This record gives sequence, structure tokens and C-alpha cells, in this order.
Amino acid sequence: MSKILIVEDEQAIAELEKDYLELNDFEVSIENNGVDGLNTALSGDFDLIILDLMLPGMDGFEICKKIREDKNIPIIMVSAKKDDIDKIRGLGLGADDYLTKPFSPSELVARVKAHMSRYKRLVGSHARENDIVEVRGIRIDKTARRITVNGVEKPFTTKEFDLLTFLAENPNRVFTKDELFKEIWDMDSIGDIATVTVHIKKIREKIEENSAKPQYIETIWGTGYRFKL
Ligand code: CA
Repeated sequence: MSKILIVEDEQAIAELEKDYLELNDFEVSIENNGVDGLNTALSGDFDLIILDLMLPGMDGFEICKKIREDKNIPIIMVSAKKDDIDKIRGLGLGADDYLTKPFSPSELVARVKAHMSRYKRLVGSHARENDIVEVRGIRIDKTARRITVNGVEKPFTTKEFDLLTFLAENPNRVFTKDELFKEIWDMDSIGDIATVTVHIKKIREKIEENSAKPQYIETIWGTGYRFKL
């Protein structure tokens, strides 16, 4: 559950905001003065902060600046004065959004959701990504070892997976059955290279619309196979 900190000295407003946010499945904490607000913001594990401008102890300008030195979570600043909002914007303190009181709670919730999802996309994009090979509707997730064809997951055996991945990663090149056998089966090609033919046939049944007229793996007569890009 996403956690939100409200720093607001007017208890009735803070409670109203809290109620609406909780109705929308957010976990909400409230601080009523600037110093506690800053300390809680810095020590807690919040996903977003709603920060009032005029606060006892320390004002929202200062708090916003100090939070930004340490965290890049979304900050929505609120103020009773339109003039103050213009002033904050001008200062470039790093707030993500501004609301003038009185605002409707549903407006607040909408803004919170928008900033939260934008932030999560941003953070998520830095997460470690799977190693993906993608060619015309075929998506090979090498990390998860899963293959989807036009969005539909297909079951592949280990060798089928390795063979298709190898071909897809080396498109527009012709490989002989010997070469493929060595590459995938990892042993001298004394073995039965007909195995390659059998595996190509199985792979085609899974990825081609019509195995007789393959769009991905072409047969180069007398030579071998080529993955069309
Ligand atoms: Ca206030």
C-alpha cells in the first residue's frame, strides 16, 4: 500500500484529506508542525508528501527544499493564497504540484494518483530488466526463459528455446545444420544432425502461422537455415 505524509497544521483539513486518501487505499500519516513534518518526511518511507505552506516551526518552502536534498518522491504543496503558489513556482523548490485551498478532496486524490503513478513508472524504469529479444511478434525473454508469439505464450523445450534464441539473435545469417548442432548441443557434430531438422520443425509449428511457408526461419536448400529479420 502506498504511503502518504500530510504536513498540515489545520487539523480539520488534514483529517479530511486523510479520510479521502484512505478511501482510495492509501496509508496516511499526519504531522501538524513544520519540524516534525520534515523529520518524519526524511526518516519515513513515504511515496508522496502533501505539504502545507504556512506551518508553525518551519514553513513549507524550507521543508520542501530540505526534502529535495535527500529524496525525489513527489511533493504536492498546498496554500490558502494564490499569490504564494505563484511565488513557490517561481522559486523552483522542486515541488511537483501546487493546490490552492480550498480544493475538493477528489481533486487532491486525482493529483495524488497521477503523481504517484508517474513516479512509480520512473522508479520502475530503473529496475533491473529482463534480457529480451524481440522480432516481429516473437518475444523471447531470456531471463525468464519464456517465449510469446503475438502475445500468446508457447511452451518450448530447452533445446528448442536455445535454438530459436540463437537464430533470432543472429538474423540474416545462414547456419548449416552442423553449425547449429555444434552451437546448441555443444558437442562434436558426430551426433545426428537430423536432430536440428526435427527441432526446426517443432519450432516452426509454434511460431509460424503456416509451417509450409515460414516467415521467420527460412530453409536455405542445400545449406541450412536463416532467421529472417
Ligand atoms: Ca497552514
